[in-house]
Amino acid sequence: MRESATPAFPIADFHCDVLWKLLKHDELLFDDQSESLIDVTPGRLQASQALLQTFAVYVSPRMTSQAAIWKSIDLFYEHVLKHPRMHHIRTAADLDYATRHDRTGALLSLEGVDGLQGDFTMLRLLFHLGVRAVGLTWNHANWAADGVMEPRQGGLTVRGGQFVDECERLGILLDVSHLTERGFWELADRVKRPFIASHSNAKALCSHARNLTDDQLKALIAIDGRIGITYVPYFVTEDGNATITDVLRHIEHVAALGGAEHLMLGSDFDGIEQYVQSLRHPADVPKLVDAMLRTFPEKVVTDITSGNAIRFLKEHLPAQ
Ligand SMILES: [Zn+2]
Repeated sequence: MRESATPAFPIADFHCDVLWKLLKHDELLFDDQSESLIDVTPGRLQASQALLQTFAVYVSPRMTSQAAIWKSIDLFYEHVLKHPRMHHIRTAADLDYATRHDRTGALLSLEGVDGLQGDFTMLRLLFHLGVRAVGLTWNHANWAADGVMEPRQGGLTVRGGQFVDECERLGILLDVSHLTERGFWELADRVKRPFIASHSNAKALCSHARNLTDDQLKALIAIDGRIGITYVPYFVTEDGNATITDVLRHIEHVAALGGAEHLMLGSDFDGIEQYVQSLRHPADVPKLVDAMLRTFPEKVVTDITSGNAIRFLKEHLPAQ
């Protein structure tokens, strides 16, 4: 628990992979009392005053069947939403309800559309089940687009472009965190609404393929999109030996580009095996908040920890 007497800074986190862990290991529970196998637990969310946690449906490239997606969503309903502290966020009104009742909002996202195989009916069914953010790819190519690790570095396919249009029509947020740079610009040219990078850092500070160039960051800022700073250590420093101060540098960099109102957090907890020092799970995030308070005014820190993310969702989720 925190020792400093800083005011409350609730947290909104736009990416974690706990559903993937639950999918891989049948015996695991979201409410893991030992807190040894899962990073994002209800207790730690409460300790970090979590307003919002996004739960990604990630399906390994080896599991291309739709069944793994349905199973992940079933885990979200059976494990996450059954916990009395969690509240499913499908609409802007749900966010108000969660805040009023001191619950943590749980948003469902899809990381990689491989398993959909171009099936827009399935996308619409996922929307009905509550999926509100979609990244076209994980690191590799699929029917919709190329991911950042695909050697040919292509952009969107024709079907992928149509899929983007359908996401916008439904009111599903688009997430470019794993997309190639070419895909990023093609998507930017195509969309009518702002999009997000839920868990990526600044390439100017750490030249990993998963990070964003200053031009990409400026484009996200210009369209009033959002950038979720992530705690994946090798996206923070090139040797992967990273401290909370190193994470803060990425936040400062994006803020210096004019992004103080566009920054948010995207931990990638439960999707990583190495960690930033002292940033091991949600209950450690107040340490990052304390570091931010040494650099930024309280209002800016509140915006970064949750205000920017919540404002974006209130504007872009279906009203009710
Ligand atoms: Zn990811």
